Amino acid sequence: AKNSGRQCFRFFTKTMQESATQRMRLTTDLRHAIRQNQLHVYYQPILDLRQNHFYKAEALLRWQHPELGFVSPAEFIPIAEDTGMIHAIGDWVFMQTLEQIKSCQTVLGQSVQISVNKSPVQFLEDRGDQHHWLELMNEANISGESIVIEITEGVLINNDVRVSHSLLQCRDAGIQVAIDDFGTGYSSLSYLKKFHVDYLKIDQSFTQSLKLDSSEFALCEAIIVMAHKLGMQVIAEGVETEEQLTILKQMDCDFAQGYLLSRPIPADQLMTFLRHNNPS
Ligand code: C2E
Ligand code: CA
Ligand code: CA
Ligand code: CA
Repeated sequence: AKNSGRQCFRFFTKTMQESATQRMRLTTDLRHAIRQNQLHVYYQPILDLRQNHFYKAEALLRWQHPELGFVSPAEFIPIAEDTGMIHAIGDWVFMQTLEQIKSCQTVLGQSVQISVNKSPVQFLEDRGDQHHWLELMNEANISGESIVIEITEGVLINNDVRVSHSLLQCRDAGIQVAIDDFGTGYSSLSYLKKFHVDYLKIDQSFTQSLKLDSSEFALCEAIIVMAHKLGMQVIAEGVETEEQLTILKQMDCDFAQGYLLSRPIPADQLMTFLRHNNPS
């Protein structure tokens, strides 16, 4: 037993070292990724459950590394946050999204609303990111109604003045705010009284185990009722089966997003998807 314990230990340190090496490599390579056209923004369509159409989508970043292949944002976003690269990357995603909104309006003759993820670091390291985004919007001639900013609960928990200032700037510009991964972060809900929030996004861990009589069923139902009472709408993430979709509709959920409806897709495919899946 002692022996195997030691092997375990050695194995553990080896993988730790490997991941540290991998992280160093990704850090170096990420610096050049934008310039070398390795980053792409994909879009995942979001279904309006009452109107039965898709005029919303979420922008999700993709990194196609020349040697390592696809690297998950779950792996490189934390690196971008730690190194400060998130500011440049976040701005780039936002600019791509503005372009996409513009093309959709031109091609479809219909306005779409695209949500972008904003990392806590972008709020707390005060580099005027939000102000810069408003400038970019004005230059692109895109109004705030076309944009949703997705933040996690953690951003709102400490009642930080930089955060409330940024969110007020958003609101004044007509940009909506969504709480991402709702229900996974904190048990306190008091921040919902202090900040104006438009959407709650039910985390996929709840959606995926949605079965009648499950505790997730009760939780989702309670989240939807609470959200509606507080004047918010609900987007269920990670919808993978017809059964989940049916249950969510019965619960009066507002929007659904997940592989059942569409995976995240490149910009040109989004256009085709919207054309084929919306009333003409
Ligand atoms: P998130 O914002 O919670 O995004 C939802 C994730 O769920 C995405 O993973 C999406 O591809 C995935 N997903 C969507 N539908 C389904 C489904 O039906 N089943 C399952 N199993 N998964 C589904 P992705 O694209 O790998 O992104 C992971 C996380 O990386 C995101 O989580 C977000 O926190 C972060 N991220 C991605 N793009 C950006 C970005 O531009 N900026 C920032 N700050 N973070 C980003
Ligand atoms: Ca998100
Ligand atoms: Ca999420
Ligand atoms: Ca997430």
